[in-house]
This record gives sequence, C-alpha cells and structure tokens, in this order.
Amino acid sequence: MFASLLLSAVTLVADTIRYEIEFPDRAHHEAAITVRFPATGHDTVDIRMSRSSPGRYALHEFAKNVYAVTATDGAGRPVAIHRPDPYRWLVSGHDGTVVFRYTLFADRADGTYSQFDGWQAHMNMPATFAWAAGMEAEPIAIRFAMPRGSGWRVASQLVPTTDPERFVAPDMAYFMDSPTLLSPFSLREWTVASAGRVDTIRLATQHLGTDEELDRYTARAKAVVAEQVAIFGETARYDHGTYTFIANYMPQASGDGMEHRNSTVLSSSGSLARNEMQLLSTLGHEFFHSWNVERIRPAALEPFDFFRANPSDALWFAEGLTSYYTPLPIRRAGLMTDAEYAASIGGTINAVVNAPGRRFFSPMEMSLQAPFVDAATSVDPTNRANTFLSYYTWGAGIGLGMDLAIRGRFPGKSLDGLMRLMWTRHGAGGRYDVPRPYTVDDIEQALADYTGDSRFAQDFFASHIRGRDVPDFAA
Ligand SMILES: [Zn+2]
Repeated sequence: MFASLLLSAVTLVADTIRYEIEFPDRAHHEAAITVRFPATGHDTVDIRMSRSSPGRYALHEFAKNVYAVTATDGAGRPVAIHRPDPYRWLVSGHDGTVVFRYTLFADRADGTYSQFDGWQAHMNMPATFAWAAGMEAEPIAIRFAMPRGSGWRVASQLVPTTDPERFVAPDMAYFMDSPTLLSPFSLREWTVASAGRVDTIRLATQHLGTDEELDRYTARAKAVVAEQVAIFGETARYDHGTYTFIANYMPQASGDGMEHRNSTVLSSSGSLARNEMQLLSTLGHEFFHSWNVERIRPAALEPFDFFRANPSDALWFAEGLTSYYTPLPIRRAGLMTDAEYAASIGGTINAVVNAPGRRFFSPMEMSLQAPFVDAATSVDPTNRANTFLSYYTWGAGIGLGMDLAIRGRFPGKSLDGLMRLMWTRHGAGGRYDVPRPYTVDDIEQALADYTGDSRFAQDFFASHIRGRDVPDFAA
C-alpha cells in the first residue's frame, strides 16, 4: 500500500535516466555502474561527476575514483568520448541513447563519500553517480543489484516501487539528496502526528551491538525528535511522509553526520554501548537540519550547484544555531543533567570568548571560509589556529546570546519563537524544493518582527553578526 501510493507520486516517462549499480568486486571496494541517458535532442551529452556535495562545503572531486569508462549508443556500438577537463566526459555520435559505464572505487563511509565492502554499500549519491548537464529535471530510475546471499536491504528516501531492487526519483536534485545504504541493517520505526498529518520516522542502523542497545537508543532518539517537533510545532513535512535516519555504526565507518531533506547519514566507528550520547547528539543535530538548512535554507545554497563550491554567509545560522539546538532538546528530553548541559554551553562560551580568529572575520565572513575548512584538504600549512573560529562554535554562541537577550528583554519569548517564525516564513510549504530561501537580512527582519523591536534586531546584527563582538552572555 505504501509503495503503490508513492509510485503514483513520481511518473516515469520516456526521458527517464536509468541507473544500475552492481557489485562484482565489493571486497576490493569496487562497484560497476551503468547509466542510460535518453539523448534525443542532445548532440553531445555532457556527462559529469560532481565536484561538490550538498551539506559539505569544500570541493571533493569525485571523478578521481572513476575508471574503466566506456560509452556506447543504444545498439551497443562504441561512441566517441572527449575529455575537456578532469570532471567531464563529452559523448557524441550516438543514436539517441548513451549508455555510460564506469567502475567506482569507494572506501570511506561517511556523509560525503561512499564505501563498498563485504558488509555494505554505503552511498552518498554525488560521490557515486555521474549525471548529464541539461538533464537535471528528468526523472530517474535506479536498480540496486543485490549480491546474492548478502542479506542486504535498502535504506533510502528514494521512492520505492513494487520491485524491492528498484527505486525512482522525480529529478536529479531529489536523487542526489537521497543517500542510500545497502546492508543487513536493523530497522526501527515510529510515527509522529503533528499539524494534521502523520509522518513515519525510520531508524536504519548497521551496527555490531545488541537489540537491547538499539531499542534504548531508539527510545532516546524518539524523545529528542519529539522535543524538536515541539519547537517548530510540526515536523519538517517530509516529501513522502517519511524521514529516514541512516546510521552506519560499523568499525570501518568514519565519524560524520550529513543532513538531507528527508534523511540523514550518521556514521561512526563508535558503538551504542560506548558512545551513545555522542551518537545521539549527531542524530539530533542532523534531524534539526531537516528544518534549519534543508527547508529554512540560505538563498546562496539554492539551487545547489554540484560543479563548484557553494559558499554561504549564513552558516553561522544554518550550522551554528543547529549546534545550539543540538544539546538543548536532549536536555529538555531529560537525557542530560543541568550540570552536563552547563558544561556543554560553557565549552562553547570559552571557545567563542577566547578565540583569536574573531579579530579577522565576522560570523558572516567566517561562514564564507567553509569551502577551506569543511572536510577540505590541501597540503600547504595555514594560520587557521590564529585566524579561524568555527561558524559552528561561534554560531552556537550566537544562538545562546540571542536566546538570553530575547528572554531577558521580551518576557515570554525565546529563540524557539524566532525559529518557528523562520520556519513559517521561509521553510514551510515546499515539496521537493525551497520556495522562500532566506538571506541574513531576512533573519534580522524576523528577529525585529518577532520581538517587535527593530532597533534591538539592528543592534544585535550590527554588533554580533556583521560585527565581531561577543554576545553578552552575562545578561
Ligand atoms: Zn550540521
């Protein structure tokens, strides 16, 4: 019932781009990928591997792990490939169909990359699948060819079909935003009723722990989710009524969390037995992003350009306030003591007050450093210890300072109310897209409107957002 309902939401047409991924040598971290591009009207098909991935701000050059590339037409005849740069394959001389095949090596399971091995196929889509410029709006169908005897299932927000190996997506943006884990994971799920709708939350966990540990973790995740829904008054209205936590807690995973519109990838080599609070914090952080950054979205990130770095001056809000709201709902759910919570925000205050980097950049300017610091790699030394303060940390401090200032000056109001106004004004209502992305000026306006004090909003932004002053934590 669930699958047939969803099928009607995405109609497959002749222009559907068809992907297939097979795993002939997953023990050596390889997958074989085939893409059939309907190419009528495209004399040259401009096939690309993404250079960037939404939610990560550096360039990652996913083409570096692609090899054994071939291209044929629909009849299987080889066609010419021209390489204008390291990221593209220009294919011409086809018969209206281009079949593009390649091998991908992938051995890092986190929010940015992919990993194929005996346990799993962990896939961040931009790191895995080539696409064609000019065909971004076409619907997509994919088949995951499950290795026989693997016991793999599919955890994904791709749209299911009646065939358990086949999924669809309405367009490239949705496809790329739907990370997928193939593994023998454990599944827990529950429903959340809010604002006249019922959403299903799924927690797909690949781990080596016990069912009892997972049940306890699920109960805690459920409590944190409920506290976050209470802040906004409703869920983030997932595109298909379902949100999926894809938790990869295997020893070969790398620590990370990556937000998406209807899902998140949580990866760690830690375990539920030893690292539960840390894992729960990441889970809460990424879930908060389903509102703040995925739908309450900086204008500079929308639409996302997979072929360049996507800088935003609002990451102090998108990442920083999400960081402020990482421990807070956990405390509200009673899963953290006041002392633990105080230690957490105390650490944030210390870091913000003492950071030498504040002399050089404002929070908006610090946000624009993201392409150089967010999982970015280069070999020359930097002076970052003296010049950089993370927009996560500074933004969390701004969240605290803003919350204290609102509570101190405007009885009965708090930062929760501002977040809810940002949600109704900029986030709520879109399906598959973000109808009203915001600028930093819009946040200032929302603060002015929410408090009814535009002078307060103006001063706060001049001092602490465009300027470099530390918020008054003693207020
Ligand atoms: Zn984040």
